[in-house]
Amino acid sequence: MPATSSSSAQPPSVLQQIWWSNAFVFLTVHAAACVGVYYHPLSSTPRATLILAVVLWQAACFSITIGYHRLYSHRSFEAGQKTRAFLAVLGTSAFQGSIKWWVLRHRLHHRYTDDPVHDPYSATRGLMWSHMGWIFFKHHYERMKTIDREDLEQDSIVRFQHQYYAVLALSTAIVFPTLLGTLWNDAMGALIWAGLVARIAVWHCTFLVNSLAHWDGLQPYSDENTSRVNLIVAVLTCGEGNHNYHAFPQDFRSDPSIFAWDPSKWIILGLQRIGFARDLRQAREEDLSCALWRMHFKTHVAPDDLITTQKTFTADVPPMTVAEIRAYVLRVQGRCILAVDNLVVDVTEYLHDHPGGDALLRKYSIKAKTFHEDQPDERVKELRDRTTAAFQGGINKHTLAAYDRLKELAVGCLVLY
Ligand SMILES: [Zn+2]
Ligand SMILES: [Zn+2]
Repeated sequence: MPATSSSSAQPPSVLQQIWWSNAFVFLTVHAAACVGVYYHPLSSTPRATLILAVVLWQAACFSITIGYHRLYSHRSFEAGQKTRAFLAVLGTSAFQGSIKWWVLRHRLHHRYTDDPVHDPYSATRGLMWSHMGWIFFKHHYERMKTIDREDLEQDSIVRFQHQYYAVLALSTAIVFPTLLGTLWNDAMGALIWAGLVARIAVWHCTFLVNSLAHWDGLQPYSDENTSRVNLIVAVLTCGEGNHNYHAFPQDFRSDPSIFAWDPSKWIILGLQRIGFARDLRQAREEDLSCALWRMHFKTHVAPDDLITTQKTFTADVPPMTVAEIRAYVLRVQGRCILAVDNLVVDVTEYLHDHPGGDALLRKYSIKAKTFHEDQPDERVKELRDRTTAAFQGGINKHTLAAYDRLKELAVGCLVLY
């Protein structure tokens, strides 16, 4: 009997899953650095070369933190073309893929944190996997299509950087330090220390955010996922180790405290002062206080108190029929109204702050055309069910802070007949 196409499809073998080009580059750089350090040890390396290595390592680190992460992934501040271009080019020196490649995976990580299937570097798959194991395997991320990418595709700098990534990365990470080394007759030393060794340093420092900062440390804001505050990682990554701030990714800081180690936020503030950055976004004080209070209450006062951990849709709002929703939608065109569980929520003012992008919220909104179809009650109910499923994990397993914000924005309690 002939086998059907679905039953004959064999899952790819481990060898077929390995991302050979990634593995080759990764292992070659490590091996070349080891050989280089053996023949050109620290003791015989000019001080200028070592200073160059440290400067370029830190420059690459900051370009990932400020550029790839806070500017491009989370849009936590706005910057002009020159600043964006500078960070995009400098970012190639970190040798971590193009902005587009990096940002899409990082957005996936935030949306499905700890999910062993959908989070590319899920900490629940083990320390080694989250640190660098995931880089060695090709993976088809079926939820990638739900990730907001419009901003990346419309950005000419991102498109250019993606297209010419290999040339840019080799130039900034390898050729540039080697040429600088010729200024004091140590091109080989500069290639080894400021090129190869500094690349390995920036790789593993960034990887520590995905591994150690999801493994060991404090959780002052939330324990809904494995993200933690790890001071060692913060020091090694220009502040990114304050990683328990996962719930507030749109904030330009990794921690609001002036005592937290986060040099990147001070640089962004400095860029704002001289006109290279603007519209710095911050989580609301009340949201931060609520998160801190909730964790304090849970940890020190009532560890088993369900009130601190329950995700409910109860809000003190008036009943709202479908006819009243229709009147609300038609009254002010262009507003973004959602039905989630039993709540009718006007998220218009929140569109700009939504970490997953405004397009996603608009996709689920109740629009005027909803009421042009037959049985509008049924249409609203269907939309409500889809939105609720998406909110509760279908698209994003939202945090307690998100539930709080949803209830705050509620304008009515949905009444269906
Ligand atoms: Zn994380
Ligand atoms: Zn992030």
